[in-house]
Amino acid sequence: MNLVVMKFGGTSVEDPVAIGRTAAIVAGRVAAGKSPAVVVSAMAKVTDQLLRAGAAAAQGDRTGALAICSRLRSRHRDTAIELVKDQADCSTLLDFIDQKFDSLDEVLRGLSAILELTPRISDLIVSYGERISSRIVAAAFRERGINAVHVDARDIIITDSQFQKAVPQDDLIEKRAAEKLLPLFEQGQVPVMGGFIGSNDAGITTTLGRGGSDFTGALIGGAITAEAIEIWTDVDGIMTTDPRVCPDALRVKVISFEEAAELAYFGAKVLHPATILPAVKKNIPVLVLNSRNPSCEGTRIISLAPHCQSPFKSIAVKKRLSIIDVVASRMLMTHGYLRQIFEVFDKHKCAVDMVSTSEVSVSLTVDSNEALPAIAADLSKLADVKYEGKKALICLVGEDIRGQNGIAAQVFSAVKHVNVRMISQGASEINMSFMVEEEDAEEAIRSLHAAFFQNPDPSVFDVEARKAVVSGQ
Ligand code: ASP
Ligand code: MG
Repeated sequence: MNLVVMKFGGTSVEDPVAIGRTAAIVAGRVAAGKSPAVVVSAMAKVTDQLLRAGAAAAQGDRTGALAICSRLRSRHRDTAIELVKDQADCSTLLDFIDQKFDSLDEVLRGLSAILELTPRISDLIVSYGERISSRIVAAAFRERGINAVHVDARDIIITDSQFQKAVPQDDLIEKRAAEKLLPLFEQGQVPVMGGFIGSNDAGITTTLGRGGSDFTGALIGGAITAEAIEIWTDVDGIMTTDPRVCPDALRVKVISFEEAAELAYFGAKVLHPATILPAVKKNIPVLVLNSRNPSCEGTRIISLAPHCQSPFKSIAVKKRLSIIDVVASRMLMTHGYLRQIFEVFDKHKCAVDMVSTSEVSVSLTVDSNEALPAIAADLSKLADVKYEGKKALICLVGEDIRGQNGIAAQVFSAVKHVNVRMISQGASEINMSFMVEEEDAEEAIRSLHAAFFQNPDPSVFDVEARKAVVSGQ
């Protein structure tokens, strides 16, 4: 049946023009004989605003919370009116929008009396973004001749009860998708649903965590064994590095799942790494595409990348990091000392990015955060501690570095003018990362890019578009 999942992010549904573009892209797929399942995010910035409304209400600022909500109501109503010209359809849609915002107002009023924002209530509040955007998109699609039908994603994406980061229950999702989506495809209908949201087995609304709509796309794709999962964003795909830093960055045409996940972790924000998993399990390719430039073929993410002449596919950078040096001469040779160090990070819920150890010292990198002084104070009970902020981690990713000699030498000779603090070749063997001062990061990236993407392999990189400057994400 040529099933494909098409997931559109917040910028692809941010206003009537964007939704019109999205409709044209979906209509094109239908005309090409595909059966799409469409997953949409909330309109751009809506999730943030809903969270702000929730936070305001929980601090007793009822008026502020309701004011945010009322601006959101107008934005959604205006979008609906602009997109849906059929009188009857438009008034049904406006009634729906008003009903939802009325109940959201109720929740916020209640919250401003109770003054306690639980993760469960937070999920309920943010869920309105996707619940409403998906209705508007479905109606706009129908108006443009697509046989679209709205499906409440919460009836399909069944999760556990870890609100704000709920874990999907694959078997149940597969069952629900078979019951609720397959009959629609058989009738030539195009289901449209919100990403990010789900429900637990008691029917209480949950969410998959920020940026979770990609995850929904992959879950649906896995459940219906789609032939591809398309992630429509506002960039041309995964690039060899950030084009704002390096204007001659190239689009990567094809990359492996493992490489893409590694890049996502190191801050290439095109994809949520968890997106990858449900697709990997079923060997479904994921395509990253640009809804503002739909004719560009994007980046294809597949399980096994073809061999590439260049060792690296892409260079990512993660900024705002701190480095913590723990010099534990007092603890030398005592067993359990690394465990004690990690317990301190655990206690402060601080994730560690990179670790390097020597005989007496351990250096760790973490995202800069307010807990650092407290962490350092706790660590100083165990050892001597120093920490410094404003660091950046540069990460080169590529499967073709596996087992190759001399790559590290090439990397460090490309950046020999930059002061390198910490080096690690990831346990995954497909990334090489090192730490520099934040102010040196861009220069280091430009030097590395010049060294490794001089003669790019045309089967992997979009060499023709070398000159085209791509807009930032
Ligand atoms: N709207 C949600 C967020 O902004 C989910 C998503 O867009 O992927 O986090
Ligand atoms: Mg997103």
